[in-house]
Amino acid sequence: MSSALTDSAQQRVFNFSAGPAALPLSVLEEVRDELVCYPGAGASIMEISHRDKRFVDLLHDAQATLRQLLGISDDYEVLFLQGGAALQFSMIPANLLRGTGKTAQYLLTGSWGKKAIKEAKKEGAAESIYDAGETNYDRLPAAGDYQVADDAAYLYYCSNETIQGVQFTDEPACPDSVPLVSDASSDFLCRPLDISKYGLLYACAQKNAGPAGVTVVVVRKDLLQRSPADLPGYLNYNNHAEADSEWNTPPTFAIYVLGKIAKWLRDDIGGLDAMLQQNQEKSQTLYQVIDQSNGFYRGHAQTEARSLMNVTFNLPNDDLQASFIAEAAKHDLTALKGHRSVGGIRASIYNAMPVEGVNTLANFMKDFAKANG
Ligand SMILES: *Cc1c(COP(=O)(O)O)cnc(C)c1O
Repeated sequence: MSSALTDSAQQRVFNFSAGPAALPLSVLEEVRDELVCYPGAGASIMEISHRDKRFVDLLHDAQATLRQLLGISDDYEVLFLQGGAALQFSMIPANLLRGTGKTAQYLLTGSWGKKAIKEAKKEGAAESIYDAGETNYDRLPAAGDYQVADDAAYLYYCSNETIQGVQFTDEPACPDSVPLVSDASSDFLCRPLDISKYGLLYACAQKNAGPAGVTVVVVRKDLLQRSPADLPGYLNYNNHAEADSEWNTPPTFAIYVLGKIAKWLRDDIGGLDAMLQQNQEKSQTLYQVIDQSNGFYRGHAQTEARSLMNVTFNLPNDDLQASFIAEAAKHDLTALKGHRSVGGIRASIYNAMPVEGVNTLANFMKDFAKANG
């Protein structure tokens, strides 16, 4: 390896960005090694046709690895789409609500759910049946806090609210007659899931599964019958399902990296059970520092709702907050500023954040509290 390359790896910091977010170093290095010429292709993966067998094989491989990791059965399609999570806010109601005469029901536990329902209302009847806005989205619904109608078009929720740091541990209760729809953008692949509980689950890649540009949509095949024929072509799930995500040019480079991340999870981490254990340990390390700080750090999310992925907390005042961020940067701990709607600090500790990064942050937090408490 040339010294320039060694230097660039050494310049890497512990990056707590909420998204686009840190990727595993070993995957970045593989991508670097293959960037100029994908083995056997005589060209970069970015330079070959999406119909080229080498790319089609790679796309199928990425789908197969996701199916293997999550145990996704043949009852479901695995689609690779563009437009980010935001386009799914519209595509879901366009395909599953428009023209049905039914109502889509939404559980609002944070900012992303709120954005999603706004788009759904343009497509048909959509109502929130739970909204934690009064407490600035610090909690999850308790049993009995909401009632899903047996004939709802679908029940929508966001499994991990990235901005507030609020995550469901289990799927919300939902009648068998109602498809469950989940925005899993920021906790996709952080743990095993029982996909058979879902009608549709989607995730933009740039939080926990790859670079920006590709969004994974896992949809139960029978739901595709609902899509109105007169939808704009790109917006119709059927087109993407029938064309195996090649209805038009898919985001080839992003799919290529996503496939590598899936293999890293399977082969290097050892699967999603092992990933979950690591995520539990990493998040516990930070929540423990918060809980043992005598109130110096105040977590945003209620204890039962705490996210494995986004740890949100406040300091006693704005000056200390600013100084926390500035001091942390000196320890190579970056991108810790919380979202403007919550304030404070947000440490995003997705799958690719090494244990060492979390431990470094935890030690910094203890020292900072001691010096300033
Ligand atoms: C980041 C994020 C989004 C928005 O993703 P885009 O790809 O920018 O549209 C939606 N939902 C959740 C939970 C997110 O974390």
